Amino acid sequence: MDTDALLAWYDRVRRPLPWRETRDPYALLVSEVMLQQTQALRVVPYYERWLARFPDPGALAAAPVRDVLAHWSGLGYNRRALALQAAAHEVAERGWPEDLTRLPGVGPYTAAAVASFAWDRQVAAVDTNVRRVLARREGPRPEAALRTRAQQLVPAGRAATFNQAMMELGATVCRPRAPRCDACPVAPGCGGHPGPAARRAATTPFEQTDRWARGRIVAALLAGEPLPVAGDRRERALAGLERDGLVVRGTDGSVRLP
Ligand code: SF4
Repeated sequence: MDTDALLAWYDRVRRPLPWRETRDPYALLVSEVMLQQTQALRVVPYYERWLARFPDPGALAAAPVRDVLAHWSGLGYNRRALALQAAAHEVAERGWPEDLTRLPGVGPYTAAAVASFAWDRQVAAVDTNVRRVLARREGPRPEAALRTRAQQLVPAGRAATFNQAMMELGATVCRPRAPRCDACPVAPGCGGHPGPAARRAATTPFEQTDRWARGRIVAALLAGEPLPVAGDRRERALAGLERDGLVVRGTDGSVRLP
C-alpha cells in the first residue's frame, strides 16, 4: 500500500474535528469512547459540552452519576458514560497507566488510538474502518495477522497521522456499502475483495428494540417523568440497566438513577 499517497490524501481532505486539534489524553479518550458507536459529526456537540462540564479526569470522577448521564443522554449505550467515569477515577487517583487497556471500557483499539494521538506512540489502531480497508485491499486475515499487517504499514514516526488517515479512508471512501474506489488514494494494487460483509440493515424498527427502551427509561428518570414502556419489555430493559449499574431498583418496585 502506498502510505505516502494515503498521508498526502489525508492532508488534503481531513475534516477539522475538535479532537484532532488536541493532544490531551483525557479529551482524546472522551472522543474515542463517544465515537465507538456514534458518527463523528453527531459527536461534536456532545464532546464540546462534556469537556466544558468535565474538563479533566478529576472533574468527571467527582461528578454525580445523574450529571454524567445527563451529559451523555442522546448518544446511546449509556454504560459507556459510566465506564468513562470509572476510567476517570483510576486516572485521577493513580495517573495514566502504561497499558491503557487496564482502564475500564478501554479496549486495544481505543488504547492504541489515544496512545498514538496523545503521546505519539508508534502503534497501529485497528478499528472496523481499518479492518475493512485492509480486508478489501489485501484479502481477509485472522485478527492477529490483521493487526500485525497494520503495524507493518505504519510509516516511521507517523503512527498518529497514519491512524487518522486509515480511519478517515474507511469512514468516507472505503465505506461499508458503497466504496468510492474512484476517489481512493490507495486504489492501485487493491484486490477489491468484498471484505467483511456489511452488517445487514436491522429489520426491527429502532423504537421496538430493547436498546430504545433502555434509553427512554434513563431519559425519563433524568427528567423525573413516569417510566415509559410496559410489560416484559420494561422488565427486560430494567434488568439490563440494573446489570450495567445504570439504575437502582428498590424492594418496593421503585426505580432510580444510581
Ligand atoms: S480501491 Fe476501493 S475497495 Fe480498494 S481500498 Fe480503495 S475504496 Fe476500498
